Amino acid sequence: MDVDEATLAPEIRSEPVPLLSQAAVPDSLYFFPTGDCTLLVGGVLFKLHKFALCRDAESESAFSHMFQDAEGSPTEIIPLDDSVEEFRHFCWALYALPDEIYRLGMGQKTQKTTGGFGRFFNKSTPLEKIDMRKFLGICNLAHKYLMPRFELWAWSVLQPHLSSYFPSCTLDDLEYLVDLGMRFRKAHSKFLLHNSEREWLGRLRSKNTACFGRALTLAEKHNRTSFQTDIYMEIRNQLLVGPSTISLDEFLTPMGLVEHQRECFIHGHAELSAMFQAPPPKLFVTTVPSYSSPCATHANCEKVWGRIICLDFRNVIPILEIARQHGRTSLAPAPCVGRFLDVDSYPHLDVVKTVFKSRKA
Ligand SMILES: [Zn+2]
Repeated sequence: MDVDEATLAPEIRSEPVPLLSQAAVPDSLYFFPTGDCTLLVGGVLFKLHKFALCRDAESESAFSHMFQDAEGSPTEIIPLDDSVEEFRHFCWALYALPDEIYRLGMGQKTQKTTGGFGRFFNKSTPLEKIDMRKFLGICNLAHKYLMPRFELWAWSVLQPHLSSYFPSCTLDDLEYLVDLGMRFRKAHSKFLLHNSEREWLGRLRSKNTACFGRALTLAEKHNRTSFQTDIYMEIRNQLLVGPSTISLDEFLTPMGLVEHQRECFIHGHAELSAMFQAPPPKLFVTTVPSYSSPCATHANCEKVWGRIICLDFRNVIPILEIARQHGRTSLAPAPCVGRFLDVDSYPHLDVVKTVFKSRKA
């Protein structure tokens, strides 16, 4: 699914609140006596300069609009719905001094120091560690408040670190990355969503059963139907080829699925099992069959068989996927594979995308 443009609009609460909310305390770093606007974030007051909040030159920031619309007294406090920690990081970016930015760049730089941040990095040199949550937070708020230059800058600091961040981050971080991916501009969004989902699926495959329900809930929240299907298919794979269990209940309980997810899985699994029966055990192969017709040379087949024989024949769908990729009309046809498996006797694999429709009201 493409990121819905409507989700890109910032959610800003701009209702003025009474002066000095009871529990509000000034932030220890970002409460400047010379500031000319006060923002309330999670019980903490930030007194900042309108200039700093409005100077992203490419366009007018959401703050510019907020200040233009404000009708009350200039001392009125504007509440924002953000996390304090993230907002503090955002303030750091707004007020960072040249030497801080320079040191950050030097920590990352390798050869080229000109030509913009994009050419600042070289993959062959280890990068100095940066605080990923800090820069993700800056990117998030700069995006939310329509400050594209700050957003692009934070993204260019982050990007070279992301591939090493994915395997090491927590599930909370992965959820956050998917949330960001749903809101960011398209190029960043695709990268974040693709990699976060791939990382999550990898963890599910390594038998981390407790996160199946959580992954499904995340996929539902963002309407990521292909991610949802991949999760259900992984559950099904583990059911078919994993260690045998006494009952479906015993298998599903550790997965942490909620009621409608369990129902959805059971229905989808039943439908697929009726359509894609595993081949009879005598067809299970562990070595490349010496096949002649319709293959003259076995040109591509051997490679394709190599991928197939390491799979478990009790789950025939991943095997059919490979066989279909190498059908008669493909650029690298492996005809004996399709013939051996009688691929044409099975339904089209697109049906897999439709069977796990949630029955949630
Ligand atoms: Zn062949």
